Amino acid sequence: MENCLFCKIAAGEIPANKVYEDEKVLVFHDIDPQAPTHLLAIPKEHVESCGAITPENSAIVAYLFEVIAKVTAQMGIRDFRVVSNCGATAGQSVFHLHFHVLAGRDMTWPPG
Ligand code: 5GP
Ligand code: ZN
Repeated sequence: MENCLFCKIAAGEIPANKVYEDEKVLVFHDIDPQAPTHLLAIPKEHVESCGAITPENSAIVAYLFEVIAKVTAQMGIRDFRVVSNCGATAGQSVFHLHFHVLAGRDMTWPPG
C-alpha cells in the first residue's frame, strides 16, 4: 500500500535492522525500543491492524507467531511479551499489522 511505512520496509525501500525475513513476513528491531529487545513482526502483505483480520488473511497471523517462536528461541529469549495495538486510542501509530515482541526486562501488568 502506498505511503505505508511498514510496506516500504517490507519492500526494502526503507532500511531496517532485520532479524528474520522470508517471502511472507519480516522481523526487525524497533527504532525506539521499549525494552532491551524490542522486535516488530509484520506480514509483508498490507493488513491494517488486528481489527482487519478475516478468514482470508488470518493464516498469516498463525505464521507470524510460528516465526516469533522460532526467532526468539534462536536469540536465546525464553520470556517475552507480544503486543499488538489496534487503533489510535489503543496506541497504534503505524497502520500496518505488527506484533511487538518485548524482552529483557520485567514486565508490568496491566499495560498502560
Ligand atoms: P505502534 O505504535 O503502531 O503500536 O507501533 C509502531 C512501532 O513502529 C513503534 O514502536 C515505533 O517505534 C516503530 N517505528 C516507527 N517508525 C519506525 C521505523 O522507521 N523503523 C523501525 N524499525 N521502527 C519504527
Ligand atoms: Zn502496509
